[in-house]
Amino acid sequence: MPYCKNCGEEIPRGATFCSKCGARVEEATGLVLATWGERLIAYIIDTLLLGIAIGWLTLPGLRWMPHMWGVTFPNWIPFVDFGLRNVVYFVYWMFLEQMYGQSVGKMAMKIRVADLDGGPLTMQQAAVQSIGKAFLLPLDLILGWFLYPSKQQRLFNNLSETVVLKKYD
Ligand SMILES: [Zn+2]
Repeated sequence: MPYCKNCGEEIPRGATFCSKCGARVEEATGLVLATWGERLIAYIIDTLLLGIAIGWLTLPGLRWMPHMWGVTFPNWIPFVDFGLRNVVYFVYWMFLEQMYGQSVGKMAMKIRVADLDGGPLTMQQAAVQSIGKAFLLPLDLILGWFLYPSKQQRLFNNLSETVVLKKYD
């Protein structure tokens, strides 16, 4: 359960106001959902950064690697190319978001991924929520859009019981 920052009272899930001091729960707990727009920009920043990083890896000395990274070669083994790039995405999101609750894109957008009480993710939660984003994004996103509009969860957010929140310091 989250606690009220005003008075320390425990706030039950789903409550709108703190029962003790009357503060609005969003302000009292800092649990405010990030918008899809903020998340989209964070995603674009992350994929651009990783694209650059992967591009660098294929520069001098590693010319034999492009076909593995799917950067300069045409996708003559499309599935394998996609696979490896997506594994990089997956590992990146899983570790950063488990350790910090944020990828670089999320840091830039001042949003974070958290469990339903606003706490840090376990490695398992971080892994599950990253699978959808790294490997199945269109499906993950569209299903989530329709199924969980109130919590704004991707399908794999829902499976891992995670939400994306605005971050206040
Ligand atoms: Zn309170």
